Amino acid sequence: MSDLTLILLAAGNSSRFKTPVKKQWLRIGHDPLWLYVTNRITKHLPGAPVVIAAHADEIPFMRSVCDFTIVEGGATRQQSLKNALAAVTTPYVMVTDIARSCIDPGLLERLIGNKGNADTIVPVLDVVDTVVYEGATIEREKVKRVQTPQLSQTDVLRRALLSDTEYTDESSAVVAAGGSRFFIPGDAHAAKITHTADLAVLECLGSPSPAVFTGNGFDVHGFEEGKPMVLGGVAIDSPFGFKAHSDGDVAIHALIDALLGAASLGDIGMLFPDTDERYKNIDSKELLEHCVLKLHQLGFVVLHADITIIAQTPKIAPYKEQMRRTLASLVQIPASRLNVKATTTEHLGFIGRKEGVGVMATASVHYFDWKNG
Ligand code: MG
Repeated sequence: MSDLTLILLAAGNSSRFKTPVKKQWLRIGHDPLWLYVTNRITKHLPGAPVVIAAHADEIPFMRSVCDFTIVEGGATRQQSLKNALAAVTTPYVMVTDIARSCIDPGLLERLIGNKGNADTIVPVLDVVDTVVYEGATIEREKVKRVQTPQLSQTDVLRRALLSDTEYTDESSAVVAAGGSRFFIPGDAHAAKITHTADLAVLECLGSPSPAVFTGNGFDVHGFEEGKPMVLGGVAIDSPFGFKAHSDGDVAIHALIDALLGAASLGDIGMLFPDTDERYKNIDSKELLEHCVLKLHQLGFVVLHADITIIAQTPKIAPYKEQMRRTLASLVQIPASRLNVKATTTEHLGFIGRKEGVGVMATASVHYFDWKNG
């Protein structure tokens, strides 16, 4: 095992990043950016453990695609770093930000090569422009632009962060706590992704895969007397509704499973556990909206959906067009790419005996193409 752990800080909320996708989940090929950045660095750190600080909501989805240690981030970069440090067992730690996506391997070599030279090894850039501070031109030779990643002694960094002061980088905390800092040449090309336009200048980031993914969903609900019936997001004139924890919109439930299946994001029970009181009697339209938002945040765009309602009763034909338009608007695709059809079971089985309704759904998604908009 390596004597060094890589910490990737990836818990930011991408608030300055104006795409429906969270920055962490932009795809490079098939890999989300957080995984791409981690793999790109660990290629040069053989055997190094990895700890990633992530937003709580994203942790289950991250764990499903990697074996790294993933901890919950905090409200600030520094709190995320503290949480990650608690999981580090090696004497050295390299801390990087997901925004620093295209780190030059030469910089990683310079960091590791200077490991023993101080408590923290820091890449810096010289300033070439004239610098004015509070109205006075100052000696720019004395000004440094500090970059990440930085390499620190784990214990020294942990102690330095016991203070309540918020620092913008590790070396500032280490120096404030009496530790030593050693400068190495940084990488002028290692730009940070903060705004959407920054993506264009990062040549290491290849396009997302153009692949299309398909998922299926299936759901059945029995009838319950006296409950209003909602199916495909539309109120249906019927003496009974559906027995369920939510409003029982079996078409929306099947569609959610198809969407989650297409994006390999588990199933409706994972996203909305029926043990959770928040979802009791909830309008399934809200669940669908939340599911689509989640898909968008994690890097997917919905392409199309097809729904087959299997019912002996009620009659679906009068409502089909309204369902199509309602569902398409919830999924945020043109109605021309959402299809609703209905069939009976010719009086066979529980559906034929008018005990309930079954719905099958198929959906397809692709990655958000951040390169071509
Ligand atoms: Mg259901």
